[in-house]
Amino acid sequence: MSIWNYANPQLRDLVAYEPGKPIEDVARELGLEPSEIIKIASNENPLGPSPKAVEAMRAALESAHIYPDGGAYLLREAIAKKFGLERANVILGNGSSEVIEFIGHAFLQPGDNIVTSRHTFAIYHLMAQLFGAETIEVADPHFTHDLPAMAAAINERTKIVFVNNPNNPSGTVVSQAEMDAFVKSVPERVVIVFDEAYVEFMDEPRDSVKFIREGRPNVLTLRTFSKIQGLAGLRIGYGLASKELAEVLQRTREPFNANSIAQAGALAGLLDEEHQKATRDLTKEGREYLQRCFASLGLKYVPSQSNFVLVKVGNGKWLFQELQKRGVIIRAMDSYGLPEWIRVTVGTMEENTRFIRELNLFINPPRTQDVPKCH
Ligand SMILES: *Cc1c(COP(=O)(O)O)cnc(C)c1O
Repeated sequence: MSIWNYANPQLRDLVAYEPGKPIEDVARELGLEPSEIIKIASNENPLGPSPKAVEAMRAALESAHIYPDGGAYLLREAIAKKFGLERANVILGNGSSEVIEFIGHAFLQPGDNIVTSRHTFAIYHLMAQLFGAETIEVADPHFTHDLPAMAAAINERTKIVFVNNPNNPSGTVVSQAEMDAFVKSVPERVVIVFDEAYVEFMDEPRDSVKFIREGRPNVLTLRTFSKIQGLAGLRIGYGLASKELAEVLQRTREPFNANSIAQAGALAGLLDEEHQKATRDLTKEGREYLQRCFASLGLKYVPSQSNFVLVKVGNGKWLFQELQKRGVIIRAMDSYGLPEWIRVTVGTMEENTRFIRELNLFINPPRTQDVPKCH
């Protein structure tokens, strides 16, 4: 007898999400010192969390024996204020990934479907599969969401459409005008998710929250504290939606899904504009450097509006392994159907130049230890 015969059938083919490799794992497997290794694989913040967030979390530890405020009054108030919304428009998740799961709980049944772009965040598809729903993947010319084609792909079983802007793993964006037309063209029975995990890194951030302010019932904007805020380990993110949609999602969550340390850290981080600006500036400088280097190495890359760059290297898996042996962890893209590409996170300038130096050894024979000049 196998217990699998009694589990939900869709779980059999579900392949678990493959995250970036932790530094400690690589150190153990290759006998390296953790301090020799750099991880530029998971779009984390190279500056770490805001010092104000760290201070707030330390203080919150003293009350760790008390259950969190399940309604997260202070944090939801602060988020609402930032966007000109009300607390009832805000839902917190254990990472915005959890809010993605709430949408599945709330809307998907076996046989339903979601619409996504071809090369986008893997979690949407995995979440749909968890609920026995299909994923309709729409072709993405130049790795960019084709919003009219996505709207056209919606059918009577479509419940959710995901727009990842900027898109992970390509760093491409859709324009505000395209978003406006898209929201008008999608039927109100379909939930439109704008996943904006990286929106703060854009030169000109888009505004999907205006659709919520205007009273659209079916728009959900997702934001996270994991990226520009540097709080990925805390697991906290949020959704913004009409009060009615937010209330639907609230009913699917555990009462204490956002822990008290995370609420305290997120609140302090949210208010620390200075740390966010420092991160944005460092990212922009590093992104431009990496893109210049790829160009001078003759590598094709996708111009990015985010804190990572997708670059074509030939055999991505092989390069991932070679770089890892040398203590540089990047992300192979074969699980995204892009075996010739890698995705690299913008790090500190020291990390960026180390990566380029190591990359140069494998990309540009005759091998040389010189750092390419990257003009
Ligand atoms: C990192 C990321 C998130 C956020 O994940 P958390 O669960 O908040 O850590 C959401 N969407 C995309 C596309 C991401 O890359």
